[in-house]
Amino acid sequence: MKRYFVCLLAVFISANFVFAQDWNTAKSTHFIIYYKNAPGGFIDELTAKAENYYDKIADDLGFRRYNFWLWDNRAKIYIYDDEKDYQAARGQPSWSSGCAYPREKVIYSFPYAKKFFDTILPHEMGHIVFREFVGFDNPAVPAWLDEGVASYQQELRFSGAGIIVKDALGKNKLMSLSKLNAVNPQILTDADAVNLFYAQAVSVVDYLIKEFGRDRFVVFCQTLRDKKNLDKALIWAYSFQDTGELDQAWRSYLSR
Ligand SMILES: [Zn+2]
Repeated sequence: MKRYFVCLLAVFISANFVFAQDWNTAKSTHFIIYYKNAPGGFIDELTAKAENYYDKIADDLGFRRYNFWLWDNRAKIYIYDDEKDYQAARGQPSWSSGCAYPREKVIYSFPYAKKFFDTILPHEMGHIVFREFVGFDNPAVPAWLDEGVASYQQELRFSGAGIIVKDALGKNKLMSLSKLNAVNPQILTDADAVNLFYAQAVSVVDYLIKEFGRDRFVVFCQTLRDKKNLDKALIWAYSFQDTGELDQAWRSYLSR
């Protein structure tokens, strides 16, 4: 019975993590890139861009780094050959172009034309940097905040988010933040619902940082990390009593 359990555990672990020996590798100071047939030029550019984002993302958010990604602690980026290969291997929905496992510091994606370097890469790295700061096992962090902070790292700040949000506001189709708190984007299949979820998420993060500044956002994230309570973090950093008050303030900011 015990042996059976160990075997089962081994199968479970191998199903979640790919075997590194099937891959080619490229190493830099903070990253190990695993790839199959991706062009060498793409891998070189990936290494250079990832190193650049390593400092930029933490600086932009005002996070001080305690955990340096060096030697055995380097982040791993797996590059599948194409979209289908990636989605099948990682069990991702058809709209997914990349995913991150923050605790393991692993990113999975595939060569994605020009958009890869400006959107997917900073987005997935943003997840890792954010979770390292607020805590991997912190149940108080709603998915929208995680996705909002990650999307905020994209070069074009999720271009079009402002248009989607204002359009939804005009049509009275915005989700309330308390409703957004309960949404898991992984199970969304409708393209409009996915776009609206991400647009709202990045719009709220953009509002908090633009309106109240980066330092206050750091206090918000620190309180979220220490108290593990979203409402307490909102009160402490912004004097919003709950997500309902944040929701109202954000909507009137959009209407200005
Ligand atoms: Zn994401």
